[in-house]
Amino acid sequence: MGTYAVTGSASGMGAAVVERLVADGHRVIGVDIKGADVTADLSTAHGRREAAAAVLELAGGVLDGAVLAAGLGPAPGKDRPRLIVEVNYRGVVELLDAWRPALARAERAKVVVFSSNSTTTVPAVPRGVVRSLLADDTEKALRTLRRLGRLGPTFAYAASKVAVSHWVRRNAVTLDWAGAGIRLNALAPGAILTPLLEQQLSTPAEAKRIRAFPVPIGGFGDPAHLAAWVVFMLSDAADFLCGSVVFVDGGSDAWFRATDWPRPVPARRVPGYVRRMAQFRSYKKAVRKG
Ligand code: NAD
Repeated sequence: MGTYAVTGSASGMGAAVVERLVADGHRVIGVDIKGADVTADLSTAHGRREAAAAVLELAGGVLDGAVLAAGLGPAPGKDRPRLIVEVNYRGVVELLDAWRPALARAERAKVVVFSSNSTTTVPAVPRGVVRSLLADDTEKALRTLRRLGRLGPTFAYAASKVAVSHWVRRNAVTLDWAGAGIRLNALAPGAILTPLLEQQLSTPAEAKRIRAFPVPIGGFGDPAHLAAWVVFMLSDAADFLCGSVVFVDGGSDAWFRATDWPRPVPARRVPGYVRRMAQFRSYKKAVRKG
């Protein structure tokens, strides 16, 4: 039985994951702003540091896995874009940076980060915001988001999830992560009936927009089903899963971009592909050296 850290453990999909893991006999250290083993506000740097340290102490320095589910939806509000990027992006990468050595100690640890199908179904997400987040320049990202006015929270949400997905894919295949035996992946749900979605559905205009959104299979997703995906991604069956973003969204992503992906490497990208082949030789050598 393992020890798992779960952020956003007090509600929705995080709570459903905790329920499953505990039922399977694992030890779970929940992190949330209230009602958790570790109470911390992940929208502040101080809160993130405190949460990271408290989990490491409770886990005794070894983590078999982590689930990063804490997140805020794109509700309106002047300060909302800041809260969204602080929790949804910084609240993932800072905790994972701090927990990485503890995950490496477990040898075959698994990490599941909550992304979203907003990454591919929200059009015109400003790329500069994603780039600034990945470059750890939150203030620059927020300056751009402020200029977008009313659309700020929607773009902050989608950009935070694009950035966190890119962060996962970039890091998953490095010496620090795959090289250390840690499987790092993301799950991208569509609309799942949790308190986050219920809050959005409580505004009539927003509810109309959400219900009109294309979901080929129909309806909303069930948090317990998403928790089952997470538990699968934490299991031995996921030993060969690395750097993937798994979409569980009733078909919305496929509806909008059926032929966008998988996309073969275009001819103009062949030099980059050859460079990556060469880089892999040094990666393999370094893994062998330990
Ligand atoms: P939820 O609101 O039920 O749960 C989110 C949890 O995050 C809550 O317990 C909340 O207290 C916690 N949280 C928020 N701000 C925090 C802070 N500052 N510090 C600490 N904890 C904080 O939402 P959910 O729908 O279960 O969402 C889980 C994850 O899935 C989120 O990352 C969300 O963005 C993502 N997601 C949700 C949906 C959906 O339709 N519900 C779709 C795609 C992705």
